[in-house]
Amino acid sequence: MTGGPGWGVRYTSTVPPDERAPTPRNLYSFSRVKTYHQCPLRYRYRYLKGLKEAFRSIESVMGTVVHGVLEWLYGEREGRGAPSLEATMEALAERWSAGLGDDVAVVRDGDRAEDHHLAAREMLERFHRGAFSRDRSTTLALEQRLSRRLSEEIVFTGFADRVGRTRNGGLFVIDYKTSKKEGDSSEFSEGLQAPLYAACVLERHDDGEALAGYHYLRHDRTSWQKVERGRADELLGRFRQLAEEVAGASEFPARPGVLCAWCGFNAICPSAEVPAGLSGGLERARELSDRTPSLYET
Ligand code: SF4
Repeated sequence: MTGGPGWGVRYTSTVPPDERAPTPRNLYSFSRVKTYHQCPLRYRYRYLKGLKEAFRSIESVMGTVVHGVLEWLYGEREGRGAPSLEATMEALAERWSAGLGDDVAVVRDGDRAEDHHLAAREMLERFHRGAFSRDRSTTLALEQRLSRRLSEEIVFTGFADRVGRTRNGGLFVIDYKTSKKEGDSSEFSEGLQAPLYAACVLERHDDGEALAGYHYLRHDRTSWQKVERGRADELLGRFRQLAEEVAGASEFPARPGVLCAWCGFNAICPSAEVPAGLSGGLERARELSDRTPSLYET
């Protein structure tokens, strides 16, 4: 085990209510609430103290780059026509080079950044030859910012990867996933995120229902759910409950686990647990903070 600053120590950060500083305008995204659920201390570092994570994992860089290519692909299709596979691979190569930087870490021992570039190529090639070439839907919006006030204190916000209409006119929202495993129906997997986006999109249209989809790029498979207006209200109500729990929290215990290896605060967290085979992020964070002592300042 490589550990962290205080391997085995369970640290709890307590914040007096008057020192709590939610992000401006009380905006709560799905990822904000999910971060609290996964580790309240990481939530506190990121959202209350406003600290920047020391490194970006190669997996998150790959996800960002692939999403950028998909946005470009559909944007081009609506404008100048569907790009060729070759042009798509060039778009990936450009974004890949631009996305890398000093702060990118390969977390797993034996992994190489290039392996993730190859995985991105394979996913986009599969997508271009498969789902994209079959897709006869119309794009209404790409990377659409969605927002809905849920109470005086809570505003839900998020970005939908793609909003469109099927060939038969059905409204849909789709979220692209680069993860190795497909999700399940639990709230912090497939249960809330895309359905919440569908609930917000429904408010902008007269349709009685919208489809919420997750497209798994490694598996060339889309998982769909139907969101009718009644379910949309339930989803928004459930998100409000979760966000209120986060907003009302005054203790932020560390919840160490496998995600510590990918957490950009693992070099300063007293409870970090980073196994030896997953220490690339921790090592990069230490190098960067030695070089830049103000790294974790806001
Ligand atoms: S290193 Fe682990 S325990 Fe510490 S903040 Fe990050 S996820 Fe939480």
